[in-house]
Amino acid sequence: MSEPFTAQRRMSPILLAILVIALLLSVASVFQGVDLMLARGNFEEGSFYLTLGATTLALSMYVLFQTRKRIMKLALKAQPVTSTILCEKCGLKNVRDFQRGDFVFKEADPCPKCNENMVIAEIYREVKDTKKTGTTLG
Ligand SMILES: [Zn+2]
Repeated sequence: MSEPFTAQRRMSPILLAILVIALLLSVASVFQGVDLMLARGNFEEGSFYLTLGATTLALSMYVLFQTRKRIMKLALKAQPVTSTILCEKCGLKNVRDFQRGDFVFKEADPCPKCNENMVIAEIYREVKDTKKTGTTLG
């Protein structure tokens, strides 16, 4: 079973380039403003550059933060969480996707075999690179 595991984990290079340029421009702007104010005594123009720089910096940081948040969400989504449901009576094991509200020892749907209430035995996040330990002997 191979799921599409190509969810975007990294920022698109174009967006990254735009952000880097914006950051560089804002830093340059701040330096220009400081230079104008301190070295040349031009406070009017200096404060304009400072404001421009600070605003651009704040905006690009905001975009960066938002994008990171979204990427992290996607990365989390890419790893499915699975719940293992066990029938204590007949030992039937059922594996299904994690559902909201699942917790270990919670009673789940009735067993399709013996109609006894099944219990959630395990909840785990599937890790991609582990070898399958599905060898049941006897
Ligand atoms: Zn059962």
